[in-house]
Amino acid sequence: MAIADDLSALQKQALSALAEAEGAERLAEWKTVYLGKKGQLTQLSRSLGAIAAEQRPAAGQAFNAAREALEAALADREARVRYGDQLNAFEADQVDITMPGRQPEVGRIHPVNQTLREIFDIFGDMGFQIWESPEVETDELNYGLLNFPPDHPARDMQDTFYVETPPGTEPVVLRTHTSAGQIHAMRRYAPEPIRVVLPGKCYRNEQVSYRSEVQFSQFEFLAVGRNITLADMKGTLGAMAERLFGPGTKVRLRPSYFPFTEPSAEMDVSCFLCSGKGCRICKYSGWLEIGGCGMVHPNVLRNGGYDPAEFSGFAGGFGPERITILKYGIDDIRWFLSGDERLLEQFG
Ligand SMILES: [Zn+2]
Repeated sequence: MAIADDLSALQKQALSALAEAEGAERLAEWKTVYLGKKGQLTQLSRSLGAIAAEQRPAAGQAFNAAREALEAALADREARVRYGDQLNAFEADQVDITMPGRQPEVGRIHPVNQTLREIFDIFGDMGFQIWESPEVETDELNYGLLNFPPDHPARDMQDTFYVETPPGTEPVVLRTHTSAGQIHAMRRYAPEPIRVVLPGKCYRNEQVSYRSEVQFSQFEFLAVGRNITLADMKGTLGAMAERLFGPGTKVRLRPSYFPFTEPSAEMDVSCFLCSGKGCRICKYSGWLEIGGCGMVHPNVLRNGGYDPAEFSGFAGGFGPERITILKYGIDDIRWFLSGDERLLEQFG
């Protein structure tokens, strides 16, 4: 149909002329030339009369569509001429919504903190509150009030980081254990009974190896009240072990010595990796040593403000790093402070 070809040629020509039209005046001219009453589209439409009657409605529609398309193109061009800069900026700013999204990087909770939070939940359910205490302590709070004799080897300069202080003032240390917080907690509440857990970072001047770091975490628990016995401690530890390492985990206490508890014990749990049958990790003993504990020494109770004739208590501590290492089979403690994402990304 010749008329359709003419129409499409005219449309093409009009659009290319429009693309080159700059300024309001040129656009007005273009409108007159192509869309005006005497314009080219109107003139071409006169030839509609010459085509067969049955083709006329379709051809008429094609003309209407062409007019609408050209009017829309003109409106676009007018906007482009008028607001060109803004439109360009807007288009440059547009987001391609067909592009695949970028996965947001989500931070993760450090595996040692995950272990700590688990322990907080367990002790929290047993009525213990979390008690934060300073990482920098006087020698007296870190050692003296916890019944460490002045010549105790733990005070050795090689183990303890001493803070430089003016001559003649009290020695100050980076705490070597969270037990330093025990005195703070007792003095805050004595003579009321207390149940607290003391988590936090500790520092010891040790040779760094796959087993030890100069900075590590500790977790301490302390209960003081009337008629508290060793059986209460063992019950508390048993409940903790079953929740932390799985049902059926048993606790074993072996006599030991710590200055701030009497009697003192090493705390073992039945190996949760082999269910006590014996494996490489538990060195085929069926038991894993996880920490130390005992009944609070009367001198420590006294230093905390409790009368040991009336009050008793138990305390203990262990290393969240060691528990995390055992639970997840991590081979080197230095991973924890490395900030290496290859470790962290395994813990969702
Ligand atoms: Zn084992």
